[in-house]
Parts: sequence; C-alpha cells; structure tokens
Amino acid sequence: MNKKTRLPHTGLDHLSRPTIVNPPVHRASTVLFDSVAHMHAVQAQWEKDDPQQPSPTYGITDMPNQVALQNALAELEGGYRAQVFPSGLAAVVGALLAFTRAGDHVLYTDSAYGPGRRSALRTLQRFGVEIEAYDPLIGGDIGKLIRPNTTVVYCESPGSYTFEIQDLPAISEAAHAHGATVLIDNAWATGFYFNAFAHGADVVIQPVTKYIAAHSDLLVGAVITNEKAWPRLRETTLDLGQTAGPDDLFNALRGLRTLGVRLPRHYETAMKVTTWLQSRPEVARVLYPALESDPGHALWKRDFTGATGLFSIELKPCSDAQVAALVDHLSLFRLGYSWGGYESLIMPSQLANIRSVRKWTGGPLVRIHVGLEEPQDLMDDLAEGFERMKGVG
Ligand SMILES: *Cc1c(COP(=O)(O)O)cnc(C)c1O
Repeated sequence: MNKKTRLPHTGLDHLSRPTIVNPPVHRASTVLFDSVAHMHAVQAQWEKDDPQQPSPTYGITDMPNQVALQNALAELEGGYRAQVFPSGLAAVVGALLAFTRAGDHVLYTDSAYGPGRRSALRTLQRFGVEIEAYDPLIGGDIGKLIRPNTTVVYCESPGSYTFEIQDLPAISEAAHAHGATVLIDNAWATGFYFNAFAHGADVVIQPVTKYIAAHSDLLVGAVITNEKAWPRLRETTLDLGQTAGPDDLFNALRGLRTLGVRLPRHYETAMKVTTWLQSRPEVARVLYPALESDPGHALWKRDFTGATGLFSIELKPCSDAQVAALVDHLSLFRLGYSWGGYESLIMPSQLANIRSVRKWTGGPLVRIHVGLEEPQDLMDDLAEGFERMKGVG
C-alpha cells in the first residue's frame, strides 16, 4: 500500500475504550494495578516486549502515546521497532551509546549534524570510544578505515549544510563485512523518500522535531532499528531513562498524518526555487541533490524517491555585511535554527568548527528551508534580498 495511504492509519492500534479517532493524551507516571497478582501478570507481559500487546508498568515505557508514535515511525521508516527520545540530539547520543563500549572505534561522517558530532567527540570519547571522522563521499572505500575494533559506522545523507549523498549500500556492505553496525540520520528525506533499511542501515535516527512534527512547537527524537539491533537499543534506552512527554508525542503523531501531503509540496517548491536560484548572478552553486547539476544527483536518483525543502546556496565571493543584507529584513524567510516546519527559514551556515576531513573551501554558504508558502512569493522575497546586497560593501 502507498505510504500516503498508510500515514493516516498507522499508530492507531492502542485506543482507550471509547472509539475515538486519536489515541488520547495519557499523562502518567504511575500505572495502577488491581492486585499483586495483576501486577505480576502485567510485569510478565511487559517483559515479553510484544509490540502488539504493550503492557506499561510505569510511565517511562510502553505508554499509549509512545507506542502509537513508535509503531507509526517503525512503519514509515520500514524498520522493526522504534523508540522515542526527548529530542533528536538525545536520539543520536542514545543510539551511539547503545552500540558502543570502551575500546571501540567509531567511523563518523564528516558531514554529520554538528551537535551530535560534538557529543561523540566530547562525551563518548571520555568513555573510551574513539571517534574518527571520514569523508562522506568515501563509499565502499570505508573498508580501508575499518579496524578490528570498529563497531559503528555513522552516516547522514544528505549531509548537514553541504548535502553530500552517501553511497549507503556500498558503505553498509563494507561495514557489515567487518561486523559493524550502520547508523544513519534520516532527517532530510525521512522514510517517506528514503528507505534506509532497504539500503543497508541497521539503525535509523529520526529527529521527529523536523518534518514529522512539522510545526516548530516541540522537540522529539526517535531511533528505529532492524530486528537484530532492537534488544540492545531497548535495553540502553531503559537504562538511560529516555522517553518523551505525552503531549509532545500526541502532537508529533498529529504532524505525521500530513507528511504525505507536505513533503511533495516542499519538494515541488524547492525544485522551483532552486532552479531559479541557479540562474541568479549572486549564486555560485545550489547544493540540492535533486538538481541534475548536483554532484550527488546520480546517487540520489538511484536511492531516493523524492527530495524535501532544505538546501544551501553558495554565494559568489561577498562580504559578511552583504550576507547579512540578504538574510536580514526578508519578510517570509525568518532567521533561526531548525527546519522541517511549515514556515520558511534562512541562515548563514556555520561550518568552521565542525568539519575536519572535507573542509568547506567555497564561498559564503547560506542554508534555506522553503515552507508551504507560494513559490513565487518566496522567490520575490529572496530577489529583494539580493537587491539589498548591492547597496552594501
Ligand atoms: C535538528 C537535527 C537533529 C537534532 O534534532 P533536535 O530534535 O533538534 O535535537 C539531528 N540531526 C539532524 C540532521 C538535524 O537536522
């Protein structure tokens, strides 16, 4: 069945007694039992970890809003099971902690989301895990970097800010040949446009905050795994006490319902706006894998079924004041972190301290998220920004 058809139907299996459309918000720490015997029976059922019969014993796991979103995300990403976290960053760190131990070596793509990489380099290294950055375009040659103690290969495709498409099947094949687990951050495409599991991933990280929740009003993350990786992820999540609040989970599931209409719309708008940007004299290059001119286009076309609303532009050499003249005073694009919401955002990219292998050597880079506005209005807004650049030195 088409994913668009499934999206309004997934995650609805755990309704409370009255038949209503959405699982109600269950705000709970304590779960009550009828008797000691009942308590033991529920506990035994909880230990089975049966996704069809979740049996919460306390608010931290298996509560209805959690189960509903987790089941929906597992289906969206094409994985076995999912676990929610209080943010996308917590999901990145939780996944890394689950699949590493002291003495391990982790290969980490140089193009990864900066704060996740910083946690790996700072906190994980403190626990004796060695982190080595690799070129996102390495493909099957990753095999040459794998050591006997390499247990995790961490991917993100396309990469943050620079949008490199990774050859996930080739990377996964090399990693699996050495028994390493392949983790990938699938924020940009989501399972709607990229089935990472079918391309070799064992574990998918999804910042629900972005395209799933989509309204810039909450933080939630998720880790989705294949069957083999699930017990380790579940165990670590329990040990770390990670979950997310029921109101956020409810709203995230609400966002998911419309993913199938929003993403094609972001894609269509981004194609129009990026094609127009390519013709602008101020723009040296547009970094968006759906464009034929993009170096990642062939891989994108092979592996992805669509693209979304986030891309970067490299400006021709210009001053910081000119970049500010472009970004400041736009009426539709707002300046701020994050993306994936209904609104358009713009931000000068900050790459200086987060790349070590594939350093950015081009001109000023500006990241753009196109929201659900009319594409022509967005182009008019940017055109005025380009005009403002001319009046500045
Ligand atoms: C935003 C983002 C995250 C982190 O998600 P939060 O919910 O904001 O913590 C992780 N990975 C990528 C690629 C992101 O863009």
